[in-house]
Amino acid sequence: MDGTAGRRGLSTLEDAIDHQLTLDPGGRNGRALYDAARHRVGGPLVGRAADCLHDAIEPGAVVAIATGFPIPPSNRPETDGPPGAAVFARAVDRLGGQPVFVVDERTEPVVDALAGVLGVDAAVERPPSTPGGLLDHLDPAAVVAIETPGRSADGTYRTMTGEDITPLVTPVDDLVAEAADRGVSTIGVGDGGNEVGMGAIRSAVGTHIESGETIASTTETGSLVVAGVSNWGAYGLNAALAARTDRSLCHTPAVEGRLLEVAVGAGAVDGVTGRSTPSVDGIGRPVHERVVGVLDALSRSTRE
Ligand code: MG
Ligand code: MG
Repeated sequence: MDGTAGRRGLSTLEDAIDHQLTLDPGGRNGRALYDAARHRVGGPLVGRAADCLHDAIEPGAVVAIATGFPIPPSNRPETDGPPGAAVFARAVDRLGGQPVFVVDERTEPVVDALAGVLGVDAAVERPPSTPGGLLDHLDPAAVVAIETPGRSADGTYRTMTGEDITPLVTPVDDLVAEAADRGVSTIGVGDGGNEVGMGAIRSAVGTHIESGETIASTTETGSLVVAGVSNWGAYGLNAALAARTDRSLCHTPAVEGRLLEVAVGAGAVDGVTGRSTPSVDGIGRPVHERVVGVLDALSRSTRE
């Protein structure tokens, strides 16, 4: 698409994608966070983020993808984040970029297994204690944080219930902040208010989310995608990039089901129930499969 009519069509499509990925079956009041984020940028959130990514992903460009949220008492990574990161990494690869996962040792087996299902070859780095060296090494065009713990106002990291998980977290806040200082595109994807990126709408998190003032992330990103489930936010980015590039970047419901099974097999747990089930945020697999199907269909609608 090109020209004003094409741009209007793209914006309409991105509104539909945003609408789809802000379903809130968990009843978290996520729509209020979405509205706050949208008010800041004045348009669809996936559109703003996809614009940055589309500009950044030149041939060979490195895109650092952070994910992984530890869930006590097992302290395993949750099923929200790694599937989104893996499918997004495949999209980066298909667009000619180089995806690099930035994950802790608990999350690495999960993203490795998911990347294997998708046939994505991505390097893995650990979140650094000081970010300069990794940024010098990777020289990324973009840093994308998908469901990663964001530092709260008192310096701790919190679950949605307010539990202090600071000892479990290898933070990516400083990596994101220094990348932004260096002019690198930064994108945060979150669903509750305690994730990297949500610092941009911190007051809304305090107002609309239970224990919001305690859990709210203070870390901002250049673009923020607010979703009902963070995986869906990453899938929405893929759909928006697919519409821009005329490429097939989304996955199918069958693949979604497989990804959730494989994530659990590699050690991930549902972040709400803490159980080793192929569910995300307490929401069963059929809902995720259907959301994926609609996003895929929307991404193709501009080509038909
Ligand atoms: Mg979350
Ligand atoms: Mg979530």
